[in-house]
Amino acid sequence: HDAAFDLKAHIRSVPDFPKPGILFYDISTLLRDGPAWKAAMARLADVVRPHRPKLLAGIESRGFLLAAPLALELGLGFIMLRKPRKLPGETIGFDYDLEYGTDRIEMQADAVAPGDRVVLLDDLLATGGTMAAGVQLLRKAGAEVPLAAAMIELAFLKGRERLDVPVQTLISYD
Ligand code: IMP
Repeated sequence: HDAAFDLKAHIRSVPDFPKPGILFYDISTLLRDGPAWKAAMARLADVVRPHRPKLLAGIESRGFLLAAPLALELGLGFIMLRKPRKLPGETIGFDYDLEYGTDRIEMQADAVAPGDRVVLLDDLLATGGTMAAGVQLLRKAGAEVPLAAAMIELAFLKGRERLDVPVQTLISYD
């Protein structure tokens, strides 16, 4: 596939969203372009495949948009890490700190078997708090997490330094 494809050209940055002073990187413009989406997924497949996962986990909600189609493409199962009280059946959760307050993500308790290799995906790595919580939750469920991957990385926030797993991203902003 096309290694020269300019993915960054398909990401839109939106000033003052969702709050004044925040520059929001929007993957909608990439997803709505068929060849761009296809090129991005092909590159994600190349970074994920060598880690030989059994399952891909996506973080609600934009992580689902990457993890589900990629799992299908690679012939793997897909699991959801969701906001509280969204999943039926027995769940396990992980609480984590935000700049102001706390948050929690949950998964179904029987989603992984002990030692299952699960690669974690989200749209964007900023401070790394969300990805770190995802890794901790998957481990609490018994999984091994060989890789965390995202489409976009805000490198100046040094989120990857908060993670104790290898990190791969496709587009980086300094
Ligand atoms: P972190 O926990 O600080 O790394 O923030 C990452 C989470 O916030 C991810 O789930 C992203 O979807 C979301 N996020 C933070 N900044 C942006 C952005 O600029 N564009 C899209 N999502 C963002």
